[in-house]
Amino acid sequence: MLDYKKPIPVPSDESKPYWAGLKERRLLIPRCDDCAKHWFPPSLYCPHCGSGKWRWAEASGKGRVFSFVVYHRVYHPGFAEEVPYAVAVIELAEGPRMISNISGIPTDRIVCDMPVEIDYVDITDEMTIPKFRPAGA
Ligand SMILES: [Zn+2]
Repeated sequence: MLDYKKPIPVPSDESKPYWAGLKERRLLIPRCDDCAKHWFPPSLYCPHCGSGKWRWAEASGKGRVFSFVVYHRVYHPGFAEEVPYAVAVIELAEGPRMISNISGIPTDRIVCDMPVEIDYVDITDEMTIPKFRPAGA
């Protein structure tokens, strides 16, 4: 953790509660008070109905692989020891899609629609990032 060499996310004002939630092992995403839909990434207005009335809601952390690619080439020196690795679009059970990595499974065994669950990874003392692993693994 102290030797983390990859880029470290810089929270925006809109996303600070999301990052604070990850630190507490909670996946917080916006949920609209008017249409009840969730979305991601965070924004000031609901992308479904335009409402500005919403709150942070705790998501289940469960989802499915919507799509993925496997990186075989090193585009950043921090990833040199990880190739090949998967970058996936995860469709959360609540509906929104987020981009993350899939770990805990060889990349040639990852398939679309595979059930996954969140894995909270501390990369520094202050920052926790979400990754996903096969559900129940
Ligand atoms: Zn809405």
